This record gives sequence, structure tokens and C-alpha cells, in this order.
Amino acid sequence: MKFLKKPLALFIAFSLLFINCKSGAKVVGDKLKKPLNIILMIGDGMGLAQISAASFINGGLSLDLLTTLGLINTSSANNYITDSAAGATAYSTGQKSYNGAIGVGVDSVSLITILEMAEKNNLATGIVTTCSITHATPACFYAHQPSRTMDKAIANDFYGKGIDLAIGGGKPYFDMEKLKADGYTIATGPNFNWQTNASKYFYFYDDSLHLPSLAQGRGDFLLNATKKAMGTLNNNKKGFFLMVEGSQIDWGGHDNNFDYVVQETIDFDKAIKAAIDFAKADGNTLVIITADHETAGLALNKGSLKNKTIEHSFATGSHSGIMVPIYAFGPGSHLFAGTMHNTKVFDHMKFLFGF
Ligand SMILES: [Zn+2]
Repeated sequence: MKFLKKPLALFIAFSLLFINCKSGAKVVGDKLKKPLNIILMIGDGMGLAQISAASFINGGLSLDLLTTLGLINTSSANNYITDSAAGATAYSTGQKSYNGAIGVGVDSVSLITILEMAEKNNLATGIVTTCSITHATPACFYAHQPSRTMDKAIANDFYGKGIDLAIGGGKPYFDMEKLKADGYTIATGPNFNWQTNASKYFYFYDDSLHLPSLAQGRGDFLLNATKKAMGTLNNNKKGFFLMVEGSQIDWGGHDNNFDYVVQETIDFDKAIKAAIDFAKADGNTLVIITADHETAGLALNKGSLKNKTIEHSFATGSHSGIMVPIYAFGPGSHLFAGTMHNTKVFDHMKFLFGF
């Protein structure tokens, strides 16, 4: 019996090892797959309390269905509390900079951004936002200026960059003739009038600086813009990089306006759903959803399960230092699990694009 038992045990042990190796190899294989396209979605000021409130009041969010999550340390180079400029500079360049910095380091010297790298590598690129294209978050992906207040100079950095598509506000800052000379088809209006044969688009919501809030009647502009952007950029078979910002979650926070925060978060989640649906169908797209920082120190103090209402309070009218969640879906998403500094997001995107 003893002689029989030993070979049997050995056989079982080897079989288990083999099965383990095989399944291990499969997991490693999935993890090695790299995306062709990356969609980076930034909910400005969207912390966990904002997401929790929006999910509760809305009866769920598409974000709730994602299974790969991490946490982001948002501090800037010179401040425990970041602003949107330093936050977006960390995401776009992989460097922590000072508050107010637009795509420049602590020494105010330009840093190459992930969007510029994508352009250099012949990928399609795009920006979608619900504020001015020159505002801090979108600006950090294409501009290099020492201060976020320099809107005209930021707009000037847009020309000649080769960005395929920009949708948002800020028309007064841009020179239409320069955009036309750059080959852009320019359109203005809350409802898309899209010419399918144009190769480069600049789409303004209206003639003003910023877009209205959802409560002021913006409608499904962000959702439609995100869909249009993905469909258009996907014509480039080498891949694309798209940054989508839900800008006004932050503004609701600064106003200490709970309904504004919740509505803008739910609106942003609609765009997230569209991106996830696109990534599911495509199979080669990584969607990353995060925030640059939390705004207003939102606390959810009491709630009614029956009425779906929340009693809340705000700790500040500014940003807070609490970590923000990051979600990822698609090839390479596993890299975004865990706790990391905001600069890691750039590192992972650069690695996954193979730049
Ligand atoms: Zn803010």
C-alpha cells in the first residue's frame, strides 16, 4: 500500500501544479494584452461621497458595476490640497507640479503630455469637456503655461498640435481663422451637426466661455459628445487617446450646492456608461475613470432608504485632501488596482501605449 500511495500522491501533486501553471499562464496572458485606445475620464471634484450620493439617489450608477478599483493620492508638489491644474498635470505628464501649473514642472519648464506622445505616435487624439477647452483640466493635456489663468496663451498652444477633435466651450479664447488654417471644421451649437467627411473637428457648445449646467439645460451634451468622439477617433486604426471631463461636479462643490453635485455626477456617469459599452464591444479599449481631487469635503450624514434622500454637509468651499477612487475597465485595467499617487496613472498609460 505504501508503495502505491506515494506515486499516486506524486501524480496528484504534479497534476495540480500543471493545472495551476496553465491557469496562471492564462491570467498572465490576459494581463499582458495592451489596449489600442485609452479613454481617460476625469470627474472634476468627484470623490467617494459624490459617487455614493449620486448612486443612492439615482438608484445605481454604471460605475457600481466595475470590478477593478484603486485609490489616488492627489497631493501636488507644493500643497497637500491640489488644484485641478496640478492634478491634471500629474495625469497628463507623470510629474507632480505646483498648484496652477499647466503642463509644466515645478521649474515651469514644459513637460511632454500623454496626448502629445499619442500624436507623435500617429494615434488619434481628442478632448471632451463641459467647460472651456482652455480650463485647467483639459488645458494640461495640450498646453504648457506657468499659470492656469492665461487662457489666451493656453488657447494659443492648441494650434499646430494635430489634435483631431475638441468638444466643449471657450470659443472667445480661440481664433477661428487659425483653427481653419489648422484644418479644423468648426461648428457651434448644443445639438451636433456633424460633417462625417471632415478629418478634424472643433465643436463649441455655444459662443460663450463655459457650458451651462445640467440644471440650466445642457441636456445630454456630454453623453452625445463622448459618443461622437469615440466613433470619430476610432477611424484611426492605430488607436486613440481621448480625455473626457465632467467639469462641473467641482463647481457644484465650490457652490456647496448638493443637487448640482449629484446631477453633474449622474450626467458624467451616463458618459461613462457609453465609454464602457464602447470598450466592451471593441475589446481593445481601456477606460479609466477617476477624479483630480475631491471638492467641498462632502459628508453624507443621514439618509432615507424609503425616500432616497440624503442629509449632507460640506466641510469647505474648496478642495479636500481625501484620496479619490480610480476605476478601470479593459486591457491593462489591473494596473489601476491599489493605492497610488496620481502620477502613476500617466506611467501606466505610457506603458500600456508602449511609448
Ligand atoms: Zn475646483
